[in-house]
Amino acid sequence: MPEQEPVVRVTNVNEVATGYTETHAKLEALRCLRCKNAPCVQGCPVRIRIRDFVVSIADGDYKKALSIIKENSLLPAVCGRVCPQENQCQLTCTVGKKLKDPTKAVSIGRLERFVADLDQNAESVPAVAAETGKKVAIIGSGPGGIVAAADTRRAGHDVTLFEAFHKTGGVMVYGIPEFRLPKAIVQKEIDTLTKMGVKIVCNFVVGKTRTIRQLLNEDGFDAAYIGVGAGLPNFMGIEGESLVGVYSANEYLTRANLMKAYDYGAGADTPIARSKKVAVVGGGNVAMDAARTALRLGAEKVYLVYRRTEKEMPARIEEVHHAKQEGIEFHILQSPKRIIGDENSHVTAIECLKFELGEPDDSGRRRPVPIEGSEFIIELDTVIIAIGNKPNPLISQTTPELKITKWGTIIVDEHTMETSVPNVYAGGDIVSGSATVILAMGQGRIAAAAINESLAKK
Ligand code: FAD
Repeated sequence: MPEQEPVVRVTNVNEVATGYTETHAKLEALRCLRCKNAPCVQGCPVRIRIRDFVVSIADGDYKKALSIIKENSLLPAVCGRVCPQENQCQLTCTVGKKLKDPTKAVSIGRLERFVADLDQNAESVPAVAAETGKKVAIIGSGPGGIVAAADTRRAGHDVTLFEAFHKTGGVMVYGIPEFRLPKAIVQKEIDTLTKMGVKIVCNFVVGKTRTIRQLLNEDGFDAAYIGVGAGLPNFMGIEGESLVGVYSANEYLTRANLMKAYDYGAGADTPIARSKKVAVVGGGNVAMDAARTALRLGAEKVYLVYRRTEKEMPARIEEVHHAKQEGIEFHILQSPKRIIGDENSHVTAIECLKFELGEPDDSGRRRPVPIEGSEFIIELDTVIIAIGNKPNPLISQTTPELKITKWGTIIVDEHTMETSVPNVYAGGDIVSGSATVILAMGQGRIAAAAINESLAKK
């Protein structure tokens, strides 16, 4: 995949990978062995007919390829960019297996992106059935909410999408940076919803502005889908976390992406103090995104501090590779013990501890064990904590009859995504915990089908 040179791309927020040309795409598609049993399909969480769409690309029929993908995935331009294909469809690809190197599998995600991008200027709006007079509330405008809104509206229901932020798109807009997922792509999907007749209401916090009960009992909604994600950041609980210059990755990325803090010349409303030396704590996609964003915001040095080794990092291999290329300094087998500040409560350093790997823990990954007396200091002015998120309890607290797990995720019937409250469905990260765009979309689709079926009976 052609991409911007590292020295160039750290000076802008434009997309890193620039996409296949038609020749690239055809050559890549021709690598597909057209396996009878199509193991790639088994690797896809929403079972896209991958072999068939890749064959269509090889045949030059891009429209057919896209329509095959759209049978199961409404957001191919998004998924082609951010799905962890290396752990899903590409992991099971026979080409990678035959070459004994999964990185040499057919680049299914890049092919998906290629056909989806060809369609970016198309004005196709899905057909909507005759009005049913039934009202559906979709809460949260992330990938699950978008799919649930589209599918319930297609069935002719009167659909309103409620979003807490002033802008729609969920993590795809406020979390994943522009250089990985251009916001215009997500906006196009939102525009399609509007053209289909979905009403979009921003700055509306369900649980505060109106509760689920009020939506159903007083505002006339017949069903609701909760797709509010898991946006409450975890902290480490160490000394110094409330110092000035300590951010959760959520806050940092939201300021940079949603509020365009990178646009300092143009006077962003919610800027971030310009940092010189930054430590990002964590080893997932969110940590990589925060570290690479800090570079683009002008930091001279960015350290990624992770308490296991690179092998255990949950981030996508591609993100790790890009982060290293861009000059992020990896500090593996290390973790902050405390954050140190000056007399004005500004961060000046972190004290870190070194670790070694012990026996595997519940997650199957080897447990990091601290090495006594290994403390050392890294001087810096910004610390970004990216060690995971959990669900915000606002909706469960204001809807006590909603059954939740001990982690605060909503319990659902996995065949319908219906919660313990009749006519209330849920999906995405609020059900699975922090997961992926494609899983959220898949669950939004299951919930919408169940809502449509239930409303059709009423
Ligand atoms: P979300 O995208 O979480 O959106 C939920 C929406 O609900 C938000 O807009 C929120 O403001 C709104 N909301 C919250 N509470 C309320 C309320 N009370 N009332 C109204 N609205 C509310 N996944 C991948 O597949 N690939 C990646 O590369 C990847 N990178 C990521 C990078 C970052 C920085 C982060 C944070 C996540 C990443 N993920 C990635 C995970 C992926 O983005 C999520 O799994 C997915 O977005 C979850 O979708 P969702 O439908 O649950 O809603």
